[in-house]
Amino acid sequence: MSRCAAQKGALSANRCAWWRDGALATAARAGSDARPMARIMSGVQPTGNLHIGNYLGALVNWVRLQAEYDAFFSIVDLHALTQRPDPEALRRAVREVAIGVLASGVDPERATVFVQSHVPQHTELAWVLTCLTPLGDLNRMTQFKDKSQHQPDNVNTGLFTYPVLQTADIVLYRADRVPVGEDQEQHLELARETVRRFNHVYGETFPEPQVVKSNAPRVMGLDGESKMSKSRNNEIGLFETADETMQKLRGAKTDPARLRKTDKGTPEVCNIFSYHGFFTSESQRAEIAAGCRSAQLGCVDCKKMLCQNLEQVKGPIRERAAELRSKPAELDAILAHGASRARAEAEKTMEMVRSRVGLGVRA
Ligand code: SF4
Repeated sequence: MSRCAAQKGALSANRCAWWRDGALATAARAGSDARPMARIMSGVQPTGNLHIGNYLGALVNWVRLQAEYDAFFSIVDLHALTQRPDPEALRRAVREVAIGVLASGVDPERATVFVQSHVPQHTELAWVLTCLTPLGDLNRMTQFKDKSQHQPDNVNTGLFTYPVLQTADIVLYRADRVPVGEDQEQHLELARETVRRFNHVYGETFPEPQVVKSNAPRVMGLDGESKMSKSRNNEIGLFETADETMQKLRGAKTDPARLRKTDKGTPEVCNIFSYHGFFTSESQRAEIAAGCRSAQLGCVDCKKMLCQNLEQVKGPIRERAAELRSKPAELDAILAHGASRARAEAEKTMEMVRSRVGLGVRA
């Protein structure tokens, strides 16, 4: 099946070959140093089920970026180990996130989609870079403090050196660009500093990755108090049915001043209205805002409208995900193909790195 059909979102019975059609083209790309397109690298952690925060924050951007860049998208399971997940749960989460990535429209014919641990060069390069990174640089990382507070019983060394592995993830593919949200800017600056240091000590080796500002919005959770997160139990799951979502929306916070339907509301302070900003047309948002302000529209009806609009996005993704889930061998093949291409690129970089730092024979 052509990519065209995949983009239409229809996984048909003969879809099983849809990614293979591009295998020759991507293999040819892997064997060439010429880069017709700038390269971009991004990763998503396999922590729990995907939610609309992940969708809006990463996946929507990935679908857009795959058309503009030679894209490497990774499910970063090594990073997830810093939270010491249950082994079976981690394996399941890796597959579910891969399914979510593909079902959302990332096309493995266009982008290299792979699982981080399937490419052992990530950890090898991370160690080389760890030996080059001053302790003080890592001490400055604010995310370490945040994460340590979040899991006080498991403040492991991986949490501290996480940004070095993240740097290795990027430079292993000699990525020119990295999409970053606000909370990752400090890590990207560390990556750039590490590249400069490596190039200074060992000679020009890595391009300095440039930031692509991702339009990743900060999506609040249903509690309206913190960022949407599975661990905070405040998420709208990407694979949830409309009924399941409505159940959650019923209990979600709205404008706190609107205690009764007859109270006039202020949509700008309402978390539900912020979700409408992502999923509802401008004209319907204007109607909702007017109805809220005049107390003509009740919160339950407003939530039902949101649920319907969410379903327009989630429904097709859920269907594609169900189809992929029913074909585990196909998913394995897609990930194996992605890992194979990623390893080939990673090994090219590592041959250069080993030679420069004095490991093995000189290339
Ligand atoms: S009507 Fe909608 S926007 Fe207004 S307070 Fe209720 S949920 Fe929020």
